[in-house]
Amino acid sequence: MTASHDNGTLAPYAALDDQTRGRRYPEPPPQYRTEYQRDRDRIVHSNAFRRLVYKTQVFVNHEGDLYRTRLTHSMEVAQIARSIARALRLNEALTEAICLAHDLGHTPFGHAGQEALNECMREYGGFEHNLQSLRVVDELEERYADFAGLNLTYECREGILKHCSAANARTLGDVGQRFLARQQPGLEAQLANLADEIAYNNHDVDDGLRAGLLTLEQLREVPLVRTQIEAVQAKYPGLQERRLIHETVRRMINHLVVDVVQHSSQRIAAARPAHIDDVRAQSGLLIAMSEPVQAQHLQLKAFLRDNLYRHYRVQRMTLKARGVVRALFEVFMSDVRLMPDDYQSAARLLESQNGLAGRARAVADYVAGMTDRYAILEHERMFVPGERS
Ligand code: MG
Repeated sequence: MTASHDNGTLAPYAALDDQTRGRRYPEPPPQYRTEYQRDRDRIVHSNAFRRLVYKTQVFVNHEGDLYRTRLTHSMEVAQIARSIARALRLNEALTEAICLAHDLGHTPFGHAGQEALNECMREYGGFEHNLQSLRVVDELEERYADFAGLNLTYECREGILKHCSAANARTLGDVGQRFLARQQPGLEAQLANLADEIAYNNHDVDDGLRAGLLTLEQLREVPLVRTQIEAVQAKYPGLQERRLIHETVRRMINHLVVDVVQHSSQRIAAARPAHIDDVRAQSGLLIAMSEPVQAQHLQLKAFLRDNLYRHYRVQRMTLKARGVVRALFEVFMSDVRLMPDDYQSAARLLESQNGLAGRARAVADYVAGMTDRYAILEHERMFVPGERS
């Protein structure tokens, strides 16, 4: 018997293991795991997953050991989403798999890197990290004898592809369909997406304070934060600042998580889905914050944009990062023989199929796969005379 599963304890509209739409290449079921546990395990064992440890969230990886990287960010997203998944009787293993995979396609240097690479790729179909995450699990990982990629379930791939243009959707087969048919993804995918926002808004407050780019005084402007700071100070007058920050952030996360559980339960009860396909057919999302909490959350997001992401020290780093990514893309595009052998072969193959756009895609795959420190090192090797080779 296979490990079949926690279906008895899950809601009927959760992603149920025996109702999966399956994998691109059929495989026998796993012996002691569910299909979605196998997805999660394949993600954890992938090369792209290990690279997340050296990729920037907001702060460049080598700026300090305590800042979030994409790996710890992904783990925080998974942890938040799993708590909510259990409370709503959704598939926890699938939720975790989607969360751990959601940033696999991210370039070095966070959004700065993604924007720079997208500009470089403008004439060749663009670059979008979300689409790249799908490309990593579908095409780029080389781990199995029988197929390229990780051969994940449809539901996991559906969750990884959060958004997508109509033009791209047409080229993506089954997972692209919902963007053309204007359908929703399953609840586990909706949850992973929301947990991503909850995680980064809250940990960016923590990292921003640690870096000295934000102050608690400033953060009192934001109602979501002020409410929690005041609650902590009322209960623990004179609490040392480090503990005050942690108490505040953990209470903010809890406040949002509780709201998502309660509000989503109401929406699900009103929509009465009997099956994951009923969830997909809804006109809107069922996993959501209540309106007042959503408004507070958006205020925090706007605050972080104005005060953290646009802080001159973050902008300075952004500028350097863009320069590194652009220079690397251009030099490899001009001569693919400057890339390691595997990437040269990929570039020749893709160019034979799709001309310059094919070559550009292979170069983008190489650059996107780099960690922050690898990109900096490769940039030195290419452009600084006398440096390491
Ligand atoms: Mg993320």
